[in-house]
Amino acid sequence: MSAEHYTVDAVVVWCFDRRFECLETGVKDYYGFKTVDPVYVAGGAKDLVSGSTYSRNYLLNQIHAAIKFHDARNVVLMTHANCAAYGKQFVDNDEAEVAFYRGELNRAEEVVERFLKKNGLREDVRIIKVYADFKGAFEV
Ligand SMILES: [Zn+2]
Repeated sequence: MSAEHYTVDAVVVWCFDRRFECLETGVKDYYGFKTVDPVYVAGGAKDLVSGSTYSRNYLLNQIHAAIKFHDARNVVLMTHANCAAYGKQFVDNDEAEVAFYRGELNRAEEVVERFLKKNGLREDVRIIKVYADFKGAFEV
């Protein structure tokens, strides 16, 4: 432990579902992120799109803090298969499930982009949209 100020490579909005913990590590390794600010919430990026105003603002404030305090240059937004927060069933239809969550991630990205612009935050922040299932995780 060190009391020194630190910077992070990314802020990671990830579902608190621990079945996907190892994939978070994989995503960090894939992008070469050494240090991240994690934001674990039910549904991952879900509440940026379909949450209450309170929960959307909570996530946006966490992203804002990571950029302001720790100079995060990447924002990872995640959704995953079989997420209890969505309560959706896609029985034997992986294609429909991926399409649904890709749509959610695209809308979440728009929300974050508008927020960054409105708050005059760095325009070079990269938004990475990740979908995870029980085989792995990939950028959408
Ligand atoms: Zn989940």
